[in-house]
Amino acid sequence: METSIGVSVRDGDTLFIDGKWHAADDGRTFAVADPATGTPVGRAADAGPAETDRAIAAAAAAFGPWSRETAYRRADVLWRAHALMTERAEDLAALMTREQGKPLKAARNEVRYAADFLSWFAEEAKRVYGGSVPSGRADQRLSILRQPVGVVAGITPWNYPISMITRKVAPALAAGCTIVLKPAEQTPLCAVAVFELLAEAGLPPGAANLVTTSRPGPVGERLLDAPAVRKLTFTGSTDVGKELAARAAATMKRVSMELGGHAPMIVMDDADPVHAAKGAALVKFLNTGQACISPNRIFVHRPILDAFTDALVSRVGALVAGPGDRPGVTVGPLVDDAALAKVTAQVEDAVAKGARPLAGGERLTGDGLAAGRFFAPTVLADVDESMRIYREETFGPVAAIVPFDTEDEAVRRANDTEYGLASYVYTNDMGRAVRVSEALRFGIVGVNDINPTAAAAPFGGVGMSGLGREGGPQGIDEYLDVKLVGLAVPRSGRD
Ligand code: NAD
Repeated sequence: METSIGVSVRDGDTLFIDGKWHAADDGRTFAVADPATGTPVGRAADAGPAETDRAIAAAAAAFGPWSRETAYRRADVLWRAHALMTERAEDLAALMTREQGKPLKAARNEVRYAADFLSWFAEEAKRVYGGSVPSGRADQRLSILRQPVGVVAGITPWNYPISMITRKVAPALAAGCTIVLKPAEQTPLCAVAVFELLAEAGLPPGAANLVTTSRPGPVGERLLDAPAVRKLTFTGSTDVGKELAARAAATMKRVSMELGGHAPMIVMDDADPVHAAKGAALVKFLNTGQACISPNRIFVHRPILDAFTDALVSRVGALVAGPGDRPGVTVGPLVDDAALAKVTAQVEDAVAKGARPLAGGERLTGDGLAAGRFFAPTVLADVDESMRIYREETFGPVAAIVPFDTEDEAVRRANDTEYGLASYVYTNDMGRAVRVSEALRFGIVGVNDINPTAAAAPFGGVGMSGLGREGGPQGIDEYLDVKLVGLAVPRSGRD
């Protein structure tokens, strides 16, 4: 079915298995709704174990031929997919805004970011270098090959519904792996749009397969239990990631886990408080706070606390919540009722324990917003350790300000979390920038920088934020095994 959006919204036949589009075996579909209005966007096939098994079998059959293609041929397919994604950027962004809710400008940025993974890994395909190791034996040569791990299972979240797919599919294909992807049940149609362009880019049947479902459990079990699947790459919550990693251990799959976060932002007294507040507002309300790198605790040095807080409150006051395709809107809806309930509960808990709401603080229902799950962009002052928001990932539009007195205290409290994904520090003192960025126990540190992410840079966390890295030269390593070849070289017959 073609929609006014321009990209097709397939009605029900959204399973891409062995190079063809299929409906679920029993014809079952599930509805996808616009989180801003509740209106239908389309329907997706509701696959179960049987369809998943077929997708795994198709990926296993395609692995041999695809892994034997030259890196140049694999790169060509990814470059063509990049060209198609760039050509369709506007339509893909419009679909993303309807299905996921983020404002159009943010959706356009995400499509560009998603396309970057296709071009970056098209280039990395040609740089899967091996090596040689000097041997201690004169009659031996040691060489190192890097070979694709095999069939990959990818599971992705709804918050970045296109870029989280290309961040996995592009390196897997570049390495010579084949993949079965299960997207989030909230955003299957963005995944369909990505797979349509991969198919048009000339991907051979079975190299990448898409299984949409509203029942992640049974589909996930087949992917995790199949001995043929050699690697799981997952982006989502820490709770689900822990369960999946444990189950993957039974068949000793390799795993990459991009999980939750609880990013600290430290604003030191030598920083410009107005500039820091601008950065805090931009990154905190990005995607309505539904980003794993979203600052969950903003630590502000007491001498500039008032100046920073005033500047942040004034910026937050200028944000406009609403449907992402409405002109001027800068903050979209939360994804579902559970998200709204969690944000509301965290704010209520903080206020009951003494936090002061300086902006927002409640659900928005006026101006036609009642059908969506809108929460007012919120600033909470005087947040402390006793409050849930201090430890739990919020995934919503709430800026929690925590005052501090010394650099050591700021670093100690910033590190006081089980998560370890992104962190930020604002300072104009070079020594502080070095000391603090070295002491923060996180996979990513932004120094006066709110967007330390790029397809060319390794993204990932430590601790309960996960394992492995996506993007950068490291991103393709996750899909490659190292093989040692020892070769005995007899001495020449003439000796
Ligand atoms: P989620 O863990 O509920 O869902 C993520 C994916 O896992 C979805 O595709 C879902 O269908 C699937 N899933 C859920 N239960 C499953 C099961 N039993 N078996 C197989 N698959 C299953 O996460 P969410 O709430 O949708 O996403 C938000 C989370 O993702 C946040 O915690 C966020 O921090 C994290 N995230 C992390 C990164 C990162 O790169 N570190 C990026 C984006 C989001």
